[in-house]
Amino acid sequence: MSDMKKNNIDVAFFSDPSTIHLMTGYLSEPHERILAFMIFKDATPILFTPALEIEDAKATVSNIQVESYLDTQNPWEIIQTLIISKGILHSNWAIEKQHLTVQKLEALQEFFPRGCFTFDYSPFMANLRISKSADEIEKMKKAGYWADEAIKIGALALHAGVSELEIVAEIEYQLKKRGISQMSFDTMVLFGDNAANPHGTPGERKLKTNEFVLFDLGVVYEGYTSDVTRTLFFGDAPSEQQEKVYNLVLDAHDAAMAKATLDMSASNLDGIARNIIADQGYGTYFNHRLGHGLGQSVHEFPSIMEGNEMPLVKNMCFSIEPGIYIPNEVGVRIEDCGYLDEHGFHSFTFFPTHLTAYTDFMKS
Ligand code: MN
Ligand code: MN
Repeated sequence: MSDMKKNNIDVAFFSDPSTIHLMTGYLSEPHERILAFMIFKDATPILFTPALEIEDAKATVSNIQVESYLDTQNPWEIIQTLIISKGILHSNWAIEKQHLTVQKLEALQEFFPRGCFTFDYSPFMANLRISKSADEIEKMKKAGYWADEAIKIGALALHAGVSELEIVAEIEYQLKKRGISQMSFDTMVLFGDNAANPHGTPGERKLKTNEFVLFDLGVVYEGYTSDVTRTLFFGDAPSEQQEKVYNLVLDAHDAAMAKATLDMSASNLDGIARNIIADQGYGTYFNHRLGHGLGQSVHEFPSIMEGNEMPLVKNMCFSIEPGIYIPNEVGVRIEDCGYLDEHGFHSFTFFPTHLTAYTDFMKS
């Protein structure tokens, strides 16, 4: 890390698996075990893994010392030995405060009682993730392709009387059969008034005709996430209210997609969508930010929201997801994620957005 010397840091201790993936190419979720990547000013970096991961790690990384511990060993004691072997004793550490738990920090402090653990690398890592490389964008396009496929699967499975959870199960079953092992978050399928709750969870509610079905889902593809929302109409013809709310959300979504440009502030982009909805009197029903960054994680820095004056930069990947939620009545959200460059916003997902009756969706 270029600024280690400037900040007089002896050990940069990374614990967030997505940081470790970004820096070493090695991707692993250690759960309660310890996974760490340590960088030093003048010594070979160490990737520290549970013993059961070491062969995988060695096969993935290069120019990195790979060390491990058994479940029966104290990982912190081994880390202490490794770091002392690098000639570092009374050390100045940089940690990821957004990730490292208090429990783990206390373990480090126990083995390095004279260490200083105040420097935080989390904001630096968040900044590093803002612009994606061409390779990362390719992976996100593929993640987007599978999100579109997931919505198709869900749309095809809709029929009166089916439950939200049955549709979730069908989507995930079909994706797994096609080689997608992980969703990027719990798949959301919400019907009718349940979709009017932006934090609703799928349950046993049964689908009736003439209501909306909200799908919000994504997959992980080679360590990169997708996130898409479509609200499909199940029935013959939407009511006046359903149509009005839907088209208003669609107008806000389309305007933000069309007008997103480099150097515009995140706040301005949010405003473009929000004003369209507010001008029609529905502003209070759009009660969340327009979007969020995404990449290795489905929610990353920055927020596309009012008050965030940060400029949008080239190859930033983020969501545009306006919604209107009228409690107990109707909920509509339309979300696409994409990347921004000098030509504008390029979506990763392409499932149609126009309001159509989906009773016989793709069955004809
Ligand atoms: Mn999202
Ligand atoms: Mn979403």
